[in-house]
Amino acid sequence: MQTRNASPDLRLADIKEDGRLRLHFSGIVQGVGFRPFLYRAAEKFGLKGFVKNTSAGVTLEVEGGRLSEFVRHIVRHAPPLSRIETLRFETIPVRHATKFNILASNPHGQKNVLVSPDIALCRNCQKEMADPGDRRHAYPFTNCTDCGPRFTIIEDLPYDRPQTTMKGFKMCPDCRREYQSPSDRRYHAQPVSCPHCGPKLKLLVKGRERKGDALALALKILRADKVLAVKGVGGFHLACRAASAAAMARLRHLKQRSGKPFALMADLAMIRQHCLISQKEKELLTSPAAPIVLLAARPGNKLVARIAPGQNRLGFMLPYSPLHRLLIEKMGEPLVMTSANRRDEPIIFRDADTELPGLSNAILSHDRSIHTFADDSVVCSFDKEIYFFRRSRGFVPLPIRLPFSSPETVLALGAMLKTTFTLIYGNLALVSQHIGDTETATALAAEKQAVSHFLTLFARRPSLIAVDSHPAYPNRLLAADFPHCEIVEVQHHRAHIASLLAESGETGKVLGIALDGSGYGDDGTVWGGEFFLGNLRGLKRVGHLLPQFLPGGDAAAREPWRMALSLLLALPGAEKTAGRFADKFGLKGEQVLESIVQRRGGVMTSSCGRLFDGVAALLGMGDRNSYEGELPSLLQAEAEKARPQKKPYPFAIENKAGIFILNMLPAVAAMLQDKRGRAEKARCFHLTLASGLLDMALNCTCVSGIQKAALSGGVFQNTLLLKMSRDLLKKNGFQVLHHTQVPANDGGISLGQAALAAAKYHKEL
Ligand code: ZN
Ligand code: ZN
Ligand code: FE
Repeated sequence: MQTRNASPDLRLADIKEDGRLRLHFSGIVQGVGFRPFLYRAAEKFGLKGFVKNTSAGVTLEVEGGRLSEFVRHIVRHAPPLSRIETLRFETIPVRHATKFNILASNPHGQKNVLVSPDIALCRNCQKEMADPGDRRHAYPFTNCTDCGPRFTIIEDLPYDRPQTTMKGFKMCPDCRREYQSPSDRRYHAQPVSCPHCGPKLKLLVKGRERKGDALALALKILRADKVLAVKGVGGFHLACRAASAAAMARLRHLKQRSGKPFALMADLAMIRQHCLISQKEKELLTSPAAPIVLLAARPGNKLVARIAPGQNRLGFMLPYSPLHRLLIEKMGEPLVMTSANRRDEPIIFRDADTELPGLSNAILSHDRSIHTFADDSVVCSFDKEIYFFRRSRGFVPLPIRLPFSSPETVLALGAMLKTTFTLIYGNLALVSQHIGDTETATALAAEKQAVSHFLTLFARRPSLIAVDSHPAYPNRLLAADFPHCEIVEVQHHRAHIASLLAESGETGKVLGIALDGSGYGDDGTVWGGEFFLGNLRGLKRVGHLLPQFLPGGDAAAREPWRMALSLLLALPGAEKTAGRFADKFGLKGEQVLESIVQRRGGVMTSSCGRLFDGVAALLGMGDRNSYEGELPSLLQAEAEKARPQKKPYPFAIENKAGIFILNMLPAVAAMLQDKRGRAEKARCFHLTLASGLLDMALNCTCVSGIQKAALSGGVFQNTLLLKMSRDLLKKNGFQVLHHTQVPANDGGISLGQAALAAAKYHKEL
């Protein structure tokens, strides 16, 4: 996944075998065992010279013959976590060196190095932890050049210990020996430490440190069904026993989170007891990024009702840090591991945070600080490929390669929910960690801090700032920090489509289908079911869902009963059915009335997310979303209970002044008449929407003959709809693009904003 090496364009024939060869590597070549690898390779070939880290990557000079063979060897066998982006070489006069040396880093010069993401505990380190004779037996902070924290502990480049949060720990003689020995696995592993010289665990209750074995005390807290805050790699988790109803109730109360699913941590054997795991899913779980993977729960599984009510999947991750491994091993059962945060805010990562004690019964912490935060990533396997819901720890800050080189340095600030930001320079796009919902001052401050960390690490100054065209999104305020930059406004759904084009390397024209919650439209109404033709140079709106009234504006996203009423009121014979529906939900007459009034002068929306909200409420999945997209995700789980179907409900497509409009009201009417069970109806609704998308695609492309469709937007987190739509489009001759590198939801928005802003100034696209 992240081990792909660019195949550098090498002309080996140009190498003079009797000369001295100077090679410059760029990419992820620091902190991943690259220099010791080159050292060992040079030894193997009997070459003399030196290697050193620079601010631009790694420089190597060698002489002594068999040079082209040597170069071929290093390109082919580079360390698994490294990623060579470029490799330049030149021949210089021989210096008759007698040794091969590893030289100290030069801290100056233009920075052009990529930073490694945080890497899950490797097999070798696991083995040592399990070995009672090893000096790192059961050591909660073990790591080596193949694993350990990186992005979250690096303050600046080049990546050397004094520039990390390990700078305060003085290596003991044993650790220093390992650190200095090129043949050792820990050679130049910057966070290297051991029980003598490294960080120490501590346990705090009510702000006071408890005496004794912190780990043993922490286990006691967990076994007593209490909630333990645990300092991990990119922040604090709240942990408790997943199997305990009392612990779960306590956690839901502390986090004020009624129905939202929690992530779980367990080893593979434990996960297998609860979920079915495909080969690809196993690969994702055990990958160096160790994300949370959404897995199909075994039928009748008892955890689901408590952990993820109404869902058919559970999100599991492996214990990716040595401390996590100790906790899971000693507990012998799955733990809930949810980010410690206030609702919709970024993960807490500082010990001094004043909210932490209120969220937990005790805190298991330590004295290695976290420089920047990173939540766990959330993925699933779709079509044997990775599909992101959240791209964060383990992936950030790996670059996404663009299909063009940007003449400008662009900083895109993202949207409002699930915010990320993106930095583009040259042909690289660096998408930030998950920030959260930037409606609060804390989240905004977190984005500001993370932006400044990125700009320091990569030593860039933006010349363009891209923002959402919504005039009231709070993170626009951050643009004020860059007074000399041009501001480029990007419409939300164009950004969704552009994010997919950028990550797919697509420069040709496509039909973009953005099915989404809501975003600010060109006409000031709320968009969210949009069809565009074009490419990164411009996307023209050619179709949309039939706009519906949005009773209560933003409140409708939290209270799907409003959209249900809106849909009912749009059907013939509306008032009666609407009244019955209102009774069923115990809504007061005024509320219905209010909706009707709103209907006559209210906001309109073409949002597909709101359509899902309304349909889910009409099918009795609930009347409120306790978290974003709750009812639509329950509707997907419901639909997945039913068998595949062939015949969709009716729908209509109109053409108004050259714009195609998909009207799903006939489907809603037919669904209300349908006598089948709820699962069948939910499935049929999915099929109808997919069929509607196909007909829209055929209509929208009939003049241009474009045969490529790009599917993005938050609604495409629904993998059932994604699969149905993709299959139908493919069957009818379309090539279909879907996300594999950033989420379809607003976590991908900043990449699309940045790509569109950059492309605006690119002449050849
Ligand atoms: Zn390791
Ligand atoms: Zn030590
Ligand atoms: Fe969106």
